[in-house]
Amino acid sequence: MLQLKNIGKQFDQKVVLDGIHLDIQAGEIVSLLGPSGSGKTTLLNIILGLTTMDRGKIIFNGEDLTNVPMKRRGFNIVFQDYALFPHLNAYDNIVYGLRNKKGTVTEKELQDYIEFLGLKPHLTKKIGELSGGQKQRVALARTLVTKPKLLLLDEPLSALDGVIKESIKQRIQSIAKEFKLTTIIVTHDPEEALTLSDKILIINEGTIAQFGTPHEIINKPSNDFVEEFILKQL
Ligand code: ATP
Repeated sequence: MLQLKNIGKQFDQKVVLDGIHLDIQAGEIVSLLGPSGSGKTTLLNIILGLTTMDRGKIIFNGEDLTNVPMKRRGFNIVFQDYALFPHLNAYDNIVYGLRNKKGTVTEKELQDYIEFLGLKPHLTKKIGELSGGQKQRVALARTLVTKPKLLLLDEPLSALDGVIKESIKQRIQSIAKEFKLTTIIVTHDPEEALTLSDKILIINEGTIAQFGTPHEIINKPSNDFVEEFILKQL
């Protein structure tokens, strides 16, 4: 469904991504995992179409999207800081996602997404009145109502802790399952990647350190970097 072929990117003279290949099946949750500065967010932004790549190809359902601009790719992202508007209430933030896409979602579907994310009691609240987990759910709803073909999440759990983190984790898993929505998540936290994803792409200094299921990565780390990076945090 989504294939990345030999993606490379430099910023100034610095190689940030080199030879990235990835093959993702429909409905899978795939994490891009690696230390700070390894190139995860750059790769996510390249998939979204926000950042251009120097070489490589992006194929989605057989279509070459390499030169297709962001707006026509049909993917959508939840940014790390949620990028919600503080002067609008939760509902207006959610429907803001539809400003250029009227007609893509029916009123019934909109209400279903709101219900699914448990946001009904919070719709009239301003963003400042919401907890971290509620903000994350508003940001997820705003993205889901655009019916993306691919859901991209940048560090969706990093601002949350404890029970809230666990509950958002479960929501992400049920979104992928319920809406059969292929999801790519950036995280620097091995524990998150291992418990959340079907597959993990581990990136180290812009290159692939390992790609596999959580089980494969724990039981058969490909190299010392993976072994250390995973084990030291478990
Ligand atoms: P983090 O977890 O800290 O966000 P990351 O793995 O997501 O890190 P990137 O944000 O993709 O890493 O950055 C990879 C490298 O590219 C870093 O060295 C960063 O400084 C550099 N970089 C990212 N964006 C730009 C840019 N717009 N201009 C110049 N260098 C950049």
